[in-house]
Amino acid sequence: MGLLDAAKARGFDPTTAIMDKGYDNGPIHDGCMDRGICPITPLRETGRVKAGDANAPTCEHGEWTFAGADYKRQATKWRCPTGECQPKSRWIKADRLHPLIRATPRSTSRVAQSSASSDGSSTNGRSCRSACAGLSACGCTPI
Ligand SMILES: [Zn+2]
Repeated sequence: MGLLDAAKARGFDPTTAIMDKGYDNGPIHDGCMDRGICPITPLRETGRVKAGDANAPTCEHGEWTFAGADYKRQATKWRCPTGECQPKSRWIKADRLHPLIRATPRSTSRVAQSSASSDGSSTNGRSCRSACAGLSACGCTPI
């Protein structure tokens, strides 16, 4: 935080702070948000993350879709996939599990989908992903 304050004092106006995994914790996140900076860190596998707290909200219609971020409000907007929910969208206050900048959808749902396919390629697809590291020749979907 001292570094960010020093940068601001010198007239810089950082809007994002990209940090390594060690900085993925509540105080760092809140400190950045207080300064109007979006912290970007890899998500640590904490208990709440494992429990699915970092996942998109879901309802009976499926996984809610990311519908934008309001930096002033420090919240992200999420929408019911079919719009049948009331309300059909809602705001979630940004925290380290629900950042304003949203990376690509988490791989868990894709893995779940591929393992649910019945064409027999699911096991290959999964083991391939870790082994081939995204080589296009193998035909798998790189993560
Ligand atoms: Zn719904």
